Amino acid sequence: MDVKRRKFLKIAGLSAVAGLGAPSAFNMLLQGEAFASNAEHGAAAPATKTEGEAGGHGGHQKESTGPQYGMVIDIKKFAEHKGLAEKCVNACHTEHNVPDFGNPKDEIKWIWVDDYEHGFTGYSQYKSKAGLNDLPVLLTCNHCANPPCVRACPTKATFKNEVGVVVMDFHRCIGCRFCMAACPYGARSFNWRNPREKYTNGNYKFFKNGVNPNYPTRMRGVVEKCNFCPERLAVGKLPACVEATGDTKAMVFGNINDPKSAIAQVLNSNFTIQRNPAAGTKPSVFYII
Ligand code: SF4
Repeated sequence: MDVKRRKFLKIAGLSAVAGLGAPSAFNMLLQGEAFASNAEHGAAAPATKTEGEAGGHGGHQKESTGPQYGMVIDIKKFAEHKGLAEKCVNACHTEHNVPDFGNPKDEIKWIWVDDYEHGFTGYSQYKSKAGLNDLPVLLTCNHCANPPCVRACPTKATFKNEVGVVVMDFHRCIGCRFCMAACPYGARSFNWRNPREKYTNGNYKFFKNGVNPNYPTRMRGVVEKCNFCPERLAVGKLPACVEATGDTKAMVFGNINDPKSAIAQVLNSNFTIQRNPAAGTKPSVFYII
């Protein structure tokens, strides 16, 4: 048994004996693992450090050199185009066979609509932007450049791919939900129920728009989340949600580290904010407000 695994089991065991909750266990685990993992990969800063340079209000996010795919979401454009946010959610969830269990308790979401106030709890907007709190805001996995969920996963079912996107191998997920405890954005969902359940006539119960045969369905006990559509990028398509915005320019997607990319130019010419940048996760999803 290697040292890391032994350490993981020790902390998990201690937590179980002491009756600690998952977040407490993971604060312990993340602190140790973050330093170890950063030392191994030569990363500049430990994940648990709160970074003033993490971006957002007045901050300057230290740039990494390799490709880092990201997204810009223009809240005002979504407000101008009524129903566009819901169209994006529908496109994503249909493409990826995201089940609809019909109740908030079991909800599975890859991308979802919330209001500004809930999405950006750290930003005070007291009377400074009339109506901002009422606007629909699309929220999703931030594909953090410094993702705590990746460090928390004991089976490496979740990992960063070569273009900086945080993806999942569903087959390796053991359903421990440590990634959910580690994510500060609530971007991951757990299948408490079997999404593949069928009626006696053979129809699926929870795939309202039918099943996309080109994408796998999941099973009970598996975590899932947005993956920036690597299967579409591989054939030269945009992510399903971005494609659904058509020519509204409400979403821009691409390599934020390529100065010639459209997204880099949008980021250079607009004031953008990220969700909870103080968490030090370096989100790759940016918002124009
Ligand atoms: Fe992981 Fe959450 Fe960041 Fe997505 S938003 S990469 S799930 S920590």
